[in-house]
Amino acid sequence: MQQEHLFKVLVIGDLGVGKTSIIKRYVHQIFSQHYRATIGVDFALKVMHWDSDTVIRLQLWDIAGQERFGNMTRVYYREAVGALVVFDVTRGSTFDAVLKWKDDLDTKVTLSHGKPVPAVLLANKSDQAVSQLPKLDTFCRENGFVRWFDTSAKENTNIEAAVRCLVEQILANE
Ligand code: GDP
Ligand code: MG
Repeated sequence: MQQEHLFKVLVIGDLGVGKTSIIKRYVHQIFSQHYRATIGVDFALKVMHWDSDTVIRLQLWDIAGQERFGNMTRVYYREAVGALVVFDVTRGSTFDAVLKWKDDLDTKVTLSHGKPVPAVLLANKSDQAVSQLPKLDTFCRENGFVRWFDTSAKENTNIEAAVRCLVEQILANE
């Protein structure tokens, strides 16, 4: 029999890192330089035919505008089972904020058995020249990220791979 899952996944990170662009790229296969700053919380649904017996409905929660205040309400985090934490490789301050976002996540939601919600780190805008990325393998290991991907919403690089990686973790926690 076919199994169906509905997974709530959060996309978090500082303003302008590309959260909305990543969701639009992943769900609607589009990219634009000019998204309006969304107001409130927005979400998009992606149906994944994971394998012959598994259908996954992925609900991707975007933050809209509220990220400027630095954290989100518990309501936003409620019942999330995974997160994509995004920074912009061209703006170091957005990387510095990654741990603040991870901490916000871990203090506001855990899985039903008390484990932290799996989080994958996205180093976005990798189409733009980057002189040097911080040592992200070590960073992920030390800070509880599943792993990291360099992504580009513009060029459609690694977004599918990052989401698949997260979903594998989510399924392993089921
Ligand atoms: P958000 O505030 O995190 O939702 O960021 P947006 O998705 O609104 O993106 C902010 C700006 O960065 C927009 O002008 C996007 O077009 C641009 N942007 C997003 N992703 C990429 C990317 O991968 N590469 C480049 N070059 N620009 C991007
Ligand atoms: Mg946005």
